Amino acid sequence: MNDTAVPAFQRYYLAKSGRLLALGGELTPRLRQLNALRSAAEAEIEVDQGIGLLVLPETAPVPEEEVTLRSLLAQAKDEQEYARHSRAAQLATWHDQHRYCGRCGSTMRDHAQDLARQCASCGLIQYPRISPCIIVLVRRGEQCLLARAPHFAPGRFSTLAGFIEAGESAEQAVAREIMEEVSIEVENIRFFASQSWPFPHQLMLGFFADYKAGDVQPDGIEIEAAGWFSLDNLPDLPPPFSISRQLIDHFFAGLQVSD
Ligand SMILES: [Zn+2]
Repeated sequence: MNDTAVPAFQRYYLAKSGRLLALGGELTPRLRQLNALRSAAEAEIEVDQGIGLLVLPETAPVPEEEVTLRSLLAQAKDEQEYARHSRAAQLATWHDQHRYCGRCGSTMRDHAQDLARQCASCGLIQYPRISPCIIVLVRRGEQCLLARAPHFAPGRFSTLAGFIEAGESAEQAVAREIMEEVSIEVENIRFFASQSWPFPHQLMLGFFADYKAGDVQPDGIEIEAAGWFSLDNLPDLPPPFSISRQLIDHFFAGLQVSD
């Protein structure tokens, strides 16, 4: 990459093979620390004002200091920093996974104007991938429905979540996922907030819903256990930075206000 072709950023996230790296313990090293790496980079992408993402080739001579994304997000000091880490991670994944055209197999290159990759042969354009998901807290009186997937840490329960399917609205996805995973009907589905979730590129749309009918029956595949929990019998919960935890905290805070 020609240094004169791209305006430099003040700081850079580093990525190799779709993963973020630290350099000398620094997550976003300054420009002057990066001259040799910069000249070998595959791409420079703006993450935020003054901060870029330097996409390094597999062969780049950089010490492997892989960053654990979950701990990075957990330590973000505010929503702005969380969003920046999330964006850097997702752009790194996207760039790594769009090297070749999905239509004709030719090499993709950076689009001239947009943040996109374009096929050098057939012109297909691929923008950074975002996968919308729903995540929902189902309430029944003063209890909420929490469930655990087989891959969760021992004892951990969370709200139900799933990908939105093609042609489906977010509300339809809420009703379908809950029926599929635990066999209950819900009503009064209402939006709460959304959160970027870079594992690897979800947009989590958070909802509340009310229990309507049915007995909780985990599907045994995606969900191995589920049940109704009240404030005095909560299991191990997801970390505070997650939207799942924000749904749970918001629900119980509302109950205490109305007491
Ligand atoms: Zn193509």
